[in-house]
Amino acid sequence: MTKTITIAGGGLVGSLLATLLARRGHRVRLVERRSDPRAASAYAGRSINLAMSDRGLRALSLAGLDDDIRAIAIPMHGRMMHDQQGNQTYQAYGKESQFINSVSRGELNKTLLSAAEKAGVEIIFGAGCVNVDFENASATFSRPDGTTFTLDADVLFGADGAFSQVRGRMQITDRFNYSQSYIEHSYKELHIPADQAGGFRIEKNVLHIWPRHSFMMIGLPNIDGSFTCTLFLAHKGPVSFEQLTSPEAVRGFFEEYFADSIPLMPSLLEDFASNPESSLVTVRCSPWVLQGRVALIGDAAHAIVPFYGQGMNCGFEDCRILMECLEVFGDDWTSALREYERLRKPAGDAIADLALENFIEMRDKVADTRFLWRKKIEAWIHAEYPAKLIPLYTMVTFSSDIPYNEALRVGREQDVLMEQIMSIPAVIADWTSDAARAEIRSVMTSRPDVIIASGSPPQR
Ligand SMILES: Cc1cc2nc3c(=O)[nH]c(=O)nc-3n(C[C@H](O)[C@H](O)[C@H](O)COP(=O)(O)OP(=O)(O)OC[C@H]3O[C@@H](n4cnc5c(N)ncnc54)[C@H](O)[C@@H]3O)c2cc1C
Repeated sequence: MTKTITIAGGGLVGSLLATLLARRGHRVRLVERRSDPRAASAYAGRSINLAMSDRGLRALSLAGLDDDIRAIAIPMHGRMMHDQQGNQTYQAYGKESQFINSVSRGELNKTLLSAAEKAGVEIIFGAGCVNVDFENASATFSRPDGTTFTLDADVLFGADGAFSQVRGRMQITDRFNYSQSYIEHSYKELHIPADQAGGFRIEKNVLHIWPRHSFMMIGLPNIDGSFTCTLFLAHKGPVSFEQLTSPEAVRGFFEEYFADSIPLMPSLLEDFASNPESSLVTVRCSPWVLQGRVALIGDAAHAIVPFYGQGMNCGFEDCRILMECLEVFGDDWTSALREYERLRKPAGDAIADLALENFIEMRDKVADTRFLWRKKIEAWIHAEYPAKLIPLYTMVTFSSDIPYNEALRVGREQDVLMEQIMSIPAVIADWTSDAARAEIRSVMTSRPDVIIASGSPPQR
């Protein structure tokens, strides 16, 4: 049966959700606080990019958009680590066929909004949600001129991001749990332009990392030959943004820690001064669904730090699982939303934890020889025994059906296994020797296959 559905927030997740619901035959209104990014007058700044992995692409395929996005994406097959002396070391993410995709956030959002319109979604720009009536699934929106309007609906989604107003209204209902925590690091975007011929100044098909133990910089390629770099650094303290208040201090900091990037960034000092320092927050809450008619999705339900490159991917996966729940429960929206929350809340919590842990891996461990050694052994074991050990990064990034919470659980078990293997004397001496491999094989043959509890498709 056709439902009238309001979605507050026309970002990445809201616009994909709107498209998928409209394609199921519902009447969907998408209300976005900002103006239409496709308008000629909209801000056309430098590209900011995101890593899209298999989960995101799988959800996009439901809207027939995965090939369109692949066409504007740059594959990244591994990490290129830059040490303080400027030496570069490459580490593949997985098998040769496994890669993540650097995609322009702006282009992705525009593609999704156009797809929503094509699917029949009514989009209202320039109106922010300011109030919600949970009993009636109605939402009130305010325009910059102070006028307001209220939309009644059968179902209301809050897809209005990390600082969701819909969630804000839920927070003042009884027994709503909420936590928000900032990490000490903030981030600032910087820029490596294309070279004079429009080509890439550094290796194109990788994610560049400058790990410096307690902080780091990363760089992702854009299709115009440029790279968007992000410096993650403590907000306060001896080595922090707080200290970098003059061009001399910024230059000195880059000369000390990121000297090889200076010739690549001709506008470093201007960019540093003009681009904002932004903070990074993790938001957890429950319930995600109230009265069986109002639900949170995407960052509104689970804002996470960006270090696993999964925030958007997780939000897109929310949409896919929700569609599967609707497939199973049909017109029974209350049950479908309950099942959606049952499956997705643990997944959101797990990827929030994994994202926090991956910051330490990216900024610190990737520069550690023992860690790189472990990664090589793990990759070899996975190649030999693919059903008995699946690297955590592979489960999170290159699987689109292992729930994040299952990846986390299996990953913890495999940590114990890897510690056991890495303490075998023959492995410590030379893990590539016949003796070491025989011992690894004897551990692995007695180990059962990995068993994953899948949440998909949902059960009645
Ligand atoms: C530095 C950084 C790097 C990241 N890198 C990656 C990555 O590589 N891969 C990845 O998967 N994820 C990444 N993420 C996470 C990703 O950006 C988010 O998870 C994703 O944007 C969430 O989409 P969303 O639609 O839920 O929220 P948003 O993208 O925040 O969209 C919310 C929308 O709601 C609108 N809105 C807000 N309030 C209201 C209101 N009251 N009424 C109406 N509309 C409203 C906003 O204008 C916005 O358009 C990164 C995040 C950061 C900060």
